[in-house]
Amino acid sequence: MIDHTIIRSWISVFRQSVDRSADHLNLLDAALGDGDFGASMQRGLQAAETDLASSDTTEVGGLLAVVGSSIVSTIGGTSGPLVGTLFLRAGAHIGSFDTTDVAHFAKALRSGADGVSALGGAGLGDKTMLDALYPALDALDASIAAGDDALTSVTRAAATARDAAQATADLVARRGRASYTGTGGVGHVDPGAEGVGLLFAALVQVLATT
Ligand code: ADP
Ligand code: MG
Repeated sequence: MIDHTIIRSWISVFRQSVDRSADHLNLLDAALGDGDFGASMQRGLQAAETDLASSDTTEVGGLLAVVGSSIVSTIGGTSGPLVGTLFLRAGAHIGSFDTTDVAHFAKALRSGADGVSALGGAGLGDKTMLDALYPALDALDASIAAGDDALTSVTRAAATARDAAQATADLVARRGRASYTGTGGVGHVDPGAEGVGLLFAALVQVLATT
């Protein structure tokens, strides 16, 4: 079961992971865009962690909404509204429950991904965060359908997200700043997709230790 302590730990572990990878994420973004993705995510997650600490709600949806709002209000640029929407939509899908199972959580994340796609107009293959997110969610659904437990399912999703992020190097960017570069960023991994890999890896770490 996923509850408020897991959500809080997840965001905290993700924040620490983004802190460690910020330079790397900035470098990936420098090759495709303006080099701010790592710093932006650091700022957004720092705010999210602070806002979570001052919220005493135990509702999973409410906490995800806090994270989304913090990110939207602190990250300018493209990724703020998009990553914020992922959390806001996921939170709205779960609503006011104190616990949720991994199948419901997976549906909530998919609703979030669909919200990102609707907002930014990108789909699979456009070399964005969605190219890690959708494959990871497909792997999550497949593992849940096969009867795997939460940790196993999320572990499979995380491995898929990591591989899919690496595979964005082969894609030609059709959305975002990377699409303005002459070659469409071929040969370079998309930083947003790399960030999705870190997001799922953080959830694995939390579920493995709870
Ligand atoms: P910028 O600096 O261009 O404002 P960020 O550096 O904040 O943008 O975020 C860049 C990341 O945003 C990209 O790596 C990509 O994954 C993601 N992204 C850009 N455009 C879109 C879009 N339309 N839909 C989904 N993700 C997008
Ligand atoms: Mg950028």
